[in-house]
Amino acid sequence: MRSLTALTSLLLLTLFSGLAAAGFLDQDFSKITLKTTHVRGNIYMLEGVGGFAGGNIGVSAGKDGILLVDDQLSPMSAKINTALADINTGKLRFILNTHWHGDHTGNNAHFSEHATIISHANVRKRLMAEQNNFFGKSPASPKEAWPLITFEHAVNIHFNGDDIQLMHYPHGHTDGDAVVYFPNSKVAHLGDHFFNGVFPFVDIDTGGNAFSLTRNIKKIIETLPADTLIIPGHGELSDMAGLKAYYTMLKATTQYVQLQAAEGESLEDIQFGGLPSDWTDWGGGFINAEHWIKIIYRSLPQKH
Ligand SMILES: [Zn+2]
Repeated sequence: MRSLTALTSLLLLTLFSGLAAAGFLDQDFSKITLKTTHVRGNIYMLEGVGGFAGGNIGVSAGKDGILLVDDQLSPMSAKINTALADINTGKLRFILNTHWHGDHTGNNAHFSEHATIISHANVRKRLMAEQNNFFGKSPASPKEAWPLITFEHAVNIHFNGDDIQLMHYPHGHTDGDAVVYFPNSKVAHLGDHFFNGVFPFVDIDTGGNAFSLTRNIKKIIETLPADTLIIPGHGELSDMAGLKAYYTMLKATTQYVQLQAAEGESLEDIQFGGLPSDWTDWGGGFINAEHWIKIIYRSLPQKH
């Protein structure tokens, strides 16, 4: 049984390593389109369809111009420009990065000639140096991709008549995550704290942790108004009911693995037993149940 589990792990690892080695950049980007959704008020969401474009982009468009939350993989730049031109003829002025991953910061260098990039301090630190995580090594980004303005806890941007809030949530998906909230429209962009409808990827190697991510989501639910619309890092547009369902899954699965580990079960034992059947539907994304168990297990000794 052990060897079967080990074999499955090896196959999964090979699959993931293959993805990393080939890179998301090796896709046929001509097949990917950008879908624009009017979320509410002056906020829009840009989502890749037909392939992996990167994380969802949030857009504030108005009299001051355009502000983006995240900017996807680098080959998407022309399609982003076209989508933005259809929304608003104003200039792109600001880009907010929710975290350092390349599928959210891939066009920083492209847009930074005209737009100012803002992020948590750890995003800048990680973009300035080579990173090594589950996907393998990511080289340091060029200087043009580094955020010019950084913050530690929170910052407000007074733009398009809104008082846009960026709030750092420590040790969630990485060590530099920011949640963006647009009070006028009651829309939030949660970055990769939120994978809608599927188990999340948590980047433990760059400061993420499944337990503190779960606590952060609880705090976010308590902080946001009940009728907030929510742009996830990946997946379809959501709302507070969707976020609460995600929190229920996070809380139950992290507690389950913690309890099993406390009873002396090894990672392989827990993976072999699997998660309670209530949560099987959440394994249909990039992270399956076996890998989600591993992420939770690896989060155990370094709880924040
Ligand atoms: Zn990410």
